Amino acid sequence: MVETTLAANIGSAARAMKTMGLSDLVLVKPKSVHTEEAYARASGAIDIMDNLKVVDSLSEAVSDCGFVMGSSARIRGLPWPLINPREAAEEAVLKGPDKPVALVFGRESSGLSNEELAQCHRHVHIPANPEYSSLNVASAIQILAYECRMAALGASAFEDKNEQREAPIADHESMEGFIQHLQQTLVDIQFLDPNNPKLLMTRLRRLYLRAELDQTEINILRGILKSTQKLKDG
Ligand code: SAH
Repeated sequence: MVETTLAANIGSAARAMKTMGLSDLVLVKPKSVHTEEAYARASGAIDIMDNLKVVDSLSEAVSDCGFVMGSSARIRGLPWPLINPREAAEEAVLKGPDKPVALVFGRESSGLSNEELAQCHRHVHIPANPEYSSLNVASAIQILAYECRMAALGASAFEDKNEQREAPIADHESMEGFIQHLQQTLVDIQFLDPNNPKLLMTRLRRLYLRAELDQTEINILRGILKSTQKLKDG
């Protein structure tokens, strides 16, 4: 949960998760956390409240994750792979065995920023009433958590769809390292103007997230970047 304002929503989220068998709650810069109201809303999900993690950025929250899905009440500018909660849960169950999967939820007031959404492999939208589609954040979490449970219970039905991967998908931290390296190289070779970047990095991010790279592939791409930088310096 990113920059949640109301501690009550954190408690409700913990309860929503526990009832559906989920356990790892990570908060990015919450306003307040362990209040009486939060515990009251959490009810029997005290363990989730006691064990939750607080971090400073979304990147830190999902650094060990292989797959990141950001949920959004609004459909944003640059089109991103957009799925509904059922599809999201199916993917979470498919990708889960490799590395942790993250479901990201935004601020009560303004949701997730474009920069945060650009760090996600998928955007998840609950197809609510188009005239009023913004759910309470804990309600949105309940819906996603329920779908994850249903998908996990019926996991065998998806087994034949399981992708044959040669190697596990790279984690977020490794992907971010590559994106930073790519950006620096593009600046070095004067393809990217840092004063006028437009949407280039966001588009490239979307491209490489779509490719679902493994670590070997990231190593190859970073090797190419290194050689490119050397040639430029040479
Ligand atoms: N006013 C904000 C809405 C925030 S609701 C905005 O316009 O973006 C808080 C969070 O709940 C959102 O960031 C999102 O993670 C989740 N959420 C609420 N409604 C949703 C919906 N219809 N689909 C997916 N996520 C939703």
